[in-house]
Amino acid sequence: MPKFVPPPWLGVPSPGSRVRRIRGRVCAVLVSLVLLVGIQVLPVDHADAGKGGRLRAATADGLAASYHVAAPAYYRPALLDGKAFPVARSNFLSLLEFPNNWHAPRLRLINGKWELVGVHLGIDIVAERGTPVLAMEPGMVANVGWTFYSGTRVGVRGVDGHYYLYAHLSSVQPGIRSGVHVAAGAVLGRIGNTGYGPPGHRDEFPPHLHLGIQSARGEWVNPYPTLALLYRQTVTETTRTQAALDRLAAAGKRSAWIRRAENAYMSLNPPGGE
Ligand SMILES: [Zn+2]
Repeated sequence: MPKFVPPPWLGVPSPGSRVRRIRGRVCAVLVSLVLLVGIQVLPVDHADAGKGGRLRAATADGLAASYHVAAPAYYRPALLDGKAFPVARSNFLSLLEFPNNWHAPRLRLINGKWELVGVHLGIDIVAERGTPVLAMEPGMVANVGWTFYSGTRVGVRGVDGHYYLYAHLSSVQPGIRSGVHVAAGAVLGRIGNTGYGPPGHRDEFPPHLHLGIQSARGEWVNPYPTLALLYRQTVTETTRTQAALDRLAAAGKRSAWIRRAENAYMSLNPPGGE
């Protein structure tokens, strides 16, 4: 369970005088200018910024400044009829998109040549690398590991009899292996862009989850209608959660706000790397 440090404004009524607001705006503009100049003029080491590590910037006078880049937190998955949208929503940017690309033309490698013979048997959900991938349907993990097109993938046989394929992962969640039972919303791994090559191959396309659903009879079915319903449910739940937090904050209920915030977010182990 993540521990939330309550924001300073929580439970502290802010008089917010006009003078104070103006002074605040002037300060914000000055800080922005300093940051802009700093970013344009000075070398910034982004190498370890992506994993919530330390971002180091040399300052103009040679002093080393170090500040922490916070990792996003992820909302606990919302369930609809026992199913969860398979990509976690973040409280940061939530760059998440899923075009209905069911049956879109795809290249396949035939006798050493790429040829346009396949169609897309799933839906691609675009999200940032490292975003948690969640079990859409409860079931048992059927396979974990590498295949040529899917890259690092997790396959789950759902309790509904369908096979759920989660492909192109950057990493598999510790503890996810064949035979393990997973609940809807359980973390299976992280978004990546592996595949279309030998083990470890990546970067042929932007990071996304390929979600495939195969019926017990072996036919791939279009996940899009279910995904659209599940996504709408997650947005509704996120909005409701934030409104509840804001009501508690407005009432100055500090400990209730902390409890609600802790309950709203998933507790995650650190990513297992690429
Ligand atoms: Zn795909």
